[in-house]
Formats: sequence, C-alpha cells, structure tokens
Amino acid sequence: MNTAVSSTPPTETGEASAVAARGRQIVKAYGAGETQVLALDHIDVDIMRGQFTAIMGPSGSGKSTLLHCLAGLDTVTSGRIELGGTEITGLKDKDLTQLRRDRIGFVFQAFNLLPTLSARENITLPMDIAGRQPDPAWLDRIIATVGLGERLEHRPRQLSGGQQQRVAVARALASQPDIVFGDEPTGNLDSRAGAEILGFLRTSVDDLGQTIVMVTHDPVAASYADRVIYLADGRIVDGMESPTADAVLNRMKAFDARGRTS
Ligand code: ADP
Repeated sequence: MNTAVSSTPPTETGEASAVAARGRQIVKAYGAGETQVLALDHIDVDIMRGQFTAIMGPSGSGKSTLLHCLAGLDTVTSGRIELGGTEITGLKDKDLTQLRRDRIGFVFQAFNLLPTLSARENITLPMDIAGRQPDPAWLDRIIATVGLGERLEHRPRQLSGGQQQRVAVARALASQPDIVFGDEPTGNLDSRAGAEILGFLRTSVDDLGQTIVMVTHDPVAASYADRVIYLADGRIVDGMESPTADAVLNRMKAFDARGRTS
C-alpha cells in the first residue's frame, strides 16, 4: 500500500495554483560518513491549497524536520521546495525571512507570546513589525472565530493555556498567510482545550479557505485534517484521505506491528 505515490501529482506544471507548497526530492542529512542521519530521504510532497494536512509518524521519523524545511525555517541538504510557486531553496536569508513574514503563519507547541503585550497586541505584532496594517474586518473575523472577544486586553499570564494558544492561532491567521504550519499545536493542552484549537483550525480551513499543515502524533488531532501523510525513517510511506481517529489509530498499529516484525 503506497498511496503516497498517488498523492503526488505526476506533472510539475498546470496545477501550481492548487498547490500551496511543493517539495521534490527533499533530503536533509545530519552529520557525515557512518554517523550520518538522513532525517528526510528524497521526499516528494504536495500540500494542496485550502486543505488541512496532518503529518504523522513515529518519533524520529522526520516530521518536524519536514515541517521546518517546508516552512523555510530550516535548510535542505538537497532537493527543491516551492511555496506558492516561489522556490525557497536557494533564497538569500533576507528574502526568506521576508517571505516567511509575509506568507507563512506558525503555531508551535509553546505558545511563544510576549508576556508584556496584550492578547490583541500579540495578535498584530508580526504585522506591526512588518509595517503592515491588519485588515480590520478580517481581524474581527479571526478574533470571533477563535472566541477571544472578551479577553483581548488581557496579558498572556491572565489567560489559560487554551486561551493563549487561541491567541497564537489568531496571530498566525491575522496576516492572511498562504499557509499555516503547526508543530504539535495542541501538545501542551488538555483534551478539551486541544479540541477547541483543532476546531478553530478546521473552521479556518472550511470558512476562511486557509491552508494548514500540522505535525501531530495524536490520531484524534489528525482526524480534524483532510489528509494524513505518514512518515517513517525520513520517507513518506503512506497517506489517508478524510481520516477518522479510529482509522488513523488502526493504521498506526499496523505500522507498529510491521516495525516489530521487520
Ligand atoms: P520527529 O519530528 O518525527 O520526531 P525529527 O524531524 O525531529 O523527527 O528528527 C528526524 C531525525 O533527524 C531523527 O533521527 C533525529 O534524531 C535527527 N535530527 C533532528 N534534528 C537533528 C539535529 N539538529 N542534529 C542531528 N540529528 C538531528
């Protein structure tokens, strides 16, 4: 079973507008010689616009490395990555920083809010730094979507973990980025707060047309996605469309069993 092959369109042209991020033959190596680790081993991947994609796989399979490389937070050893039709592999640091700032949103496991700023100021901070005015109607919509209305003037320490992550999600969405990357965005939250955040991410795809890529090890979190990509040993080994938590869990068990017998 290798649906990863069919999930990668065979042609390089003609569908660019439907593809938010594209990776071709991505290799990320750490170290050299006998101790070299291939964190990513010739990965081909297309992230479709307006879709919620979950990246899963065992610990050490390359999930975070793939996310960071696709997001331009880390460099590749070889291969090619395009974001919205722009090749980012080979961009100068300054251009890459600008592209990240203008076109990408991030949500991490740690909320990464500035403690001295209010929720509202944290949400608009990246745009303030970029010298861009948030679209007020869009901002209102984001804030309504994540349900922060009453707490906008609170500082992060006056907010629960779930509320702080809502601020981080609103911050990621505020600049209308081409793509939002999440690295275990619910990893620090209890299941109820996690479900809320995942619900907001889902809504932002359904109602706002956002593109989201999320690393997770949680089948329930993955069930909010449109599509799951499974990594093992730095390769895409499987994929699933319209995942349910049970289907994801069963697939993971099958991988584990295979891993033990091989
Ligand atoms: P995952 O997110 O699936 O747990 P990672 O992407 O963090 O996996 O790591 C993939 C592989 O690359 C692992 O074998 C890991 O030990 C290795 N790795 C990741 N970062 C580094 C690094 N900075 N230096 C050396 N090896 C690394």
